[in-house]
Amino acid sequence: MLYPCIILKKEREISLFRRHHWIFSGGIDSTQGQIEDGDIVQVKSKQGNFLALGYFCKGTSIAVKILSFENNTIDQDFWLNKIAIAYNLRKNLNLVNNTSTNCYRLINAEGDSAPGLIIDIYSDLAVIQCQTLGIYKNLKLIGTALKENVKHLKTIFFQYPATEESGYLLGESPEEQLAMENGFKFIIDHETGQKTGFFVDQRENRALVKQYAQGRTVLNAFCYTGGFSVYALAGGAKKVYSLDSSKKALDILEKNIPLNFSEANHQTICADYFNFIKNTKENFDLIILDPPAFAKSHRVLDNGIKGYRNINSQSMQSISKGGLLFTFSCSQAMTKELFQKTLFEAALQAKREVKILYQLHQSPCHPINIYHPEGEYLKGLVLEIL
Ligand code: SAH
Repeated sequence: MLYPCIILKKEREISLFRRHHWIFSGGIDSTQGQIEDGDIVQVKSKQGNFLALGYFCKGTSIAVKILSFENNTIDQDFWLNKIAIAYNLRKNLNLVNNTSTNCYRLINAEGDSAPGLIIDIYSDLAVIQCQTLGIYKNLKLIGTALKENVKHLKTIFFQYPATEESGYLLGESPEEQLAMENGFKFIIDHETGQKTGFFVDQRENRALVKQYAQGRTVLNAFCYTGGFSVYALAGGAKKVYSLDSSKKALDILEKNIPLNFSEANHQTICADYFNFIKNTKENFDLIILDPPAFAKSHRVLDNGIKGYRNINSQSMQSISKGGLLFTFSCSQAMTKELFQKTLFEAALQAKREVKILYQLHQSPCHPINIYHPEGEYLKGLVLEIL
């Protein structure tokens, strides 16, 4: 198929030889043919050699996102094949036809060589998130390819956050969508909740909380719909407090608890965590801190670091001797090394002895493309606080 061309400046093809998925606008020499925002383009070297196929992102610093390093056609077969490869990995990860876990990420953007595309599976519901116009323009093909690959789907919902458009490609709004993770049930609010409705990237980390919750008073801060809270209760926590500033998230959490337990020593707190942790007189034996990204880009990284340092230091001060802190950052701009350094500063500020027990990351259904290390966004540390 003949696509319009983007010609790179001399020697700018090097990033494509390294199979990176982004082309920055500064690397472009010229264009050939009519190119609209989101259109498929062929990327060529200054000498005219084919390099890759991608889609054009008008007016942004990343001008092209690569979908293929082969000279094929971005058609129905292309998407069928892309989703089949991703689905096969999830089968190998034992996430397909698994009787205790039926929610997972099927397509993780660059991690599955599909920049701009997220697909999360919640039992018989799939949620497609189009993060770019280029992906949105391919939505129909993607929906059909998804249906063909994942035969048990009853509902396919899509979100296009840029215009806040959303809707159903298959089926209709389910009355109440449930998903199961490690045997625990959760209500999925894919229509009005955060992201695609649930945070499946924390699956293994939640299981670790269960392992250490026995007999402890637990504070699950930034709890959303209570993923970590359910695991802490299942692990035998003495009491679990779940804190979030979103009343809507807490309302779902209040339903998730009785879905899993007939009786539970649990309390929700609707509050801003910064205020709460500054003023609380309580001590906790285990705190989970899983805030939203404080540093959404390198530009605001300094402020983000300050935010992480303060809530971690204040949380450490509210942990009883020998207690545990499960602390996370999902900011892409915050590297593993920087996060650990920030925790070191928080420990100094809190004047506590602190030991690293585990270094955590995102679930394997959020694979990181080795050619795209930026995809490693979730970092976590389990700390003993003495
Ligand atoms: N740990 C959760 C996901 C956390 S998402 C899980 O495992 O599912 C981040 C959450 O932080 C959101 O629910 C959001 O409502 C909440 N939040 C954002 N800012 C906050 C603040 N200042 N204080 C308390 N909660 C906040």
